[in-house]
Amino acid sequence: MDDTIKIGIIICDRYRMCAGGKCMRSLRNREGAFSIYEGKEVELVGFAPCGGCPGGNIEYVPEEMKKNGAEVIHLATGMIVGYPPCPRIKYFSRFIREKYDMKVVVGTHPIPENYYTTHMNLGTWDSNLWKELISPTETDEKIRLSYD
Ligand code: SF4
Repeated sequence: MDDTIKIGIIICDRYRMCAGGKCMRSLRNREGAFSIYEGKEVELVGFAPCGGCPGGNIEYVPEEMKKNGAEVIHLATGMIVGYPPCPRIKYFSRFIREKYDMKVVVGTHPIPENYYTTHMNLGTWDSNLWKELISPTETDEKIRLSYD
């Protein structure tokens, strides 16, 4: 039996030109939100932008990823650290779980330290909801610095 966990990544459309370097690196190193796969085989089977505000692709791309075998959708760290962070991220998570019965993880690579510092100073994440949303990618200062 193939135990490989197949995942898809959806990124914020504001970063649609991103080549995904930080996501690929952290997936390989099992860092940030990918630390949950430590010791496991993982295959990336889809990578797509949300389609731009208000995120129209969230309605469709999980289906294609699921057809490709994806069990888990990761909402990329860019949604958390953008200026401003995506206001719809919680809804996206609920929608994908409800419509496609897939697991959703908020985040991919560790939050880079420069974004972390700015948002901490702005008080962006001063709520229980945001504390929960950033927890998989908050990591520690040393790792965050390595993603600057
Ligand atoms: S802010 Fe949210 S809805 Fe807008 S482009 Fe980014 S991820 Fe998509």
